[in-house]
Amino acid sequence: VQQDLKGEKMMIRMVLEESKAFFCVDCGKCTAVCPMAEMYPEFSQEMSPRGIIRQALLSDNILQNDCLWYCPGCHAGTRICPEGVSCRDLVAGLRKLAMEKYPESQALVCTRCGALVTTRPVLGYIHNHLGEKQNTISCLCPFCKRQVYMERNTI
Ligand code: SF4
Ligand code: SF4
Repeated sequence: VQQDLKGEKMMIRMVLEESKAFFCVDCGKCTAVCPMAEMYPEFSQEMSPRGIIRQALLSDNILQNDCLWYCPGCHAGTRICPEGVSCRDLVAGLRKLAMEKYPESQALVCTRCGALVTTRPVLGYIHNHLGEKQNTISCLCPFCKRQVYMERNTI
């Protein structure tokens, strides 16, 4: 168990390094432009990019934190950061680790290949906005959608 925890911490550290999260100066510019504040009525500081960065740097259980699954993966926070931190890459990297370690995470994966398609909170937001059309959303990644299309249309 100790070994597992050590490995998990090392993997998280790599994601923090790759996304440059260690350079964050806590200015809050990413949070000011993050679309999640308008997407979710339950939006909180913990869910914000700055909040996720803080928790990733300071807490031991970021991979089990539900805040990780609300981000729709835009470029706004990354573009505006004066320190070159990518909240987008940080969230994507942490989600990848969370999916490996905790299969009961909020990830929605492609039913054919297992790639991440979206997350439960993001899909909930989409459903709220699409209303009646929600049942037409399939859980296939773009690659598998193309494969299915090719299989259907190849004689
Ligand atoms: S904009 Fe950059 S430096 Fe400022 S809080 Fe966000 S990640 Fe940190
Ligand atoms: S990548 Fe995610 S956390 Fe960063 S600004 Fe966009 S929605 Fe917010």
